[in-house]
Amino acid sequence: MTERGQSRRTRAIHAGIRRSGYGEVAEAIFLTQGFVYDSAEKAEARFIEAGPDEFIYARYGNPTVRMFEERMAALEGAEDAFATASGMAAVNGALMCQLAAGDRVVASRALFGSCLYILEDILPRFGVEVVLVDGTDLEAWRTALAPGARAVFLESVANPTLDIIDIAAVSALAHDAGACVIVDNVFATPVFSRALDHGADVVVYSTTKHVDGQGRCLGGVVLGSRDFIRKRLEPYLKHTGGAMSPFNAWVMLKGLETLDLRVRAQAQAALELARGLEGHPALARVIYPGLPSHPQHALAVRQMPEGQGTVFSIDVKGGKEGAFRFINALEIFTISNNLGDAKSIVTHPATTTHQRLSEETRAALGITPGLVRISVGLEDPADLAADLARGLAAVG
Ligand SMILES: *Cc1c(COP(=O)(O)O)cnc(C)c1O
Repeated sequence: MTERGQSRRTRAIHAGIRRSGYGEVAEAIFLTQGFVYDSAEKAEARFIEAGPDEFIYARYGNPTVRMFEERMAALEGAEDAFATASGMAAVNGALMCQLAAGDRVVASRALFGSCLYILEDILPRFGVEVVLVDGTDLEAWRTALAPGARAVFLESVANPTLDIIDIAAVSALAHDAGACVIVDNVFATPVFSRALDHGADVVVYSTTKHVDGQGRCLGGVVLGSRDFIRKRLEPYLKHTGGAMSPFNAWVMLKGLETLDLRVRAQAQAALELARGLEGHPALARVIYPGLPSHPQHALAVRQMPEGQGTVFSIDVKGGKEGAFRFINALEIFTISNNLGDAKSIVTHPATTTHQRLSEETRAALGITPGLVRISVGLEDPADLAADLARGLAAVG
């Protein structure tokens, strides 16, 4: 396959395809748990070392899943990838496959709730020391990394406050400390981010979000060097059971074909809508990394020059009551907690995704009672603008 020189948009459509003898156009779904061998000797040989197009058991790998892994790797510019049952299986695998008792992990504090649970509740039970820092504060990273660390974990664009973490600067500090840098890149999307080029060692995605993009399936993927993926991660994941289903891999492959178009359209609409809301009297703040008013706008544009994401947040005046009035008056935006979907979605983090956190932690993270996260979909932006205006008119 000659993928060199092709743009990411092209790779997202063609990379990794494996055609069966029928020459099908659309990728085949190999909905099979296992594979047969022509002889006992062939079975023995495959268990000693499986070739690149040889499979043993779907928990280890499957042709449809492999197509998805190779396409994701080509898109991301990674040597290899391993697909997982969900984004959390990817995050857990990327961490657990390389940690042991006595190791230190340094992570940014502003994380997706389940990622925070792994770091705060699970890893310490196994004797892993976890230090959480304000991800935007390079001095805090430097101090926390001074004693050395095995791994660094961060969300490149934090949920839901949309703080941007300087991947290049944190990676340089982490590498000096001997740490492997794992970047959860969901909000940045595979279209806009090149975390590996900025110094990350491992990138994880919940493909449930933009890659599916139509709210159908859970999925995740871990990307990195061939050595890391095949020698460290694969043994952990294939024995602990986080494999992606072939059906979900097929849905994700189809999602990748339109990913570039969708994400660019969604990000353009997000920018227009966020810009249109700035200065609205019912709002204390509009937060979008693509707006010059974002405290890290320059970094956001440097790190993601082609687009700053499909999600923005607003802080509605009147706290929870104001936010609920806004949300309940919307007619097009659906109330849910997915993001990156074709359908525009609103989330009230303080009472849903971040409800588990204490009020102090929420305040420290900037998750105010009036904060509403808005994932912009593929509807006509003019209709979305009218819907947001309707919501804000209801705030009073
Ligand atoms: C959704 C999400 C996850 C978890 O992914 P699932 O597919 O729901 O398991 C992890 N990190 C971030 C940033 C997410 O948005």
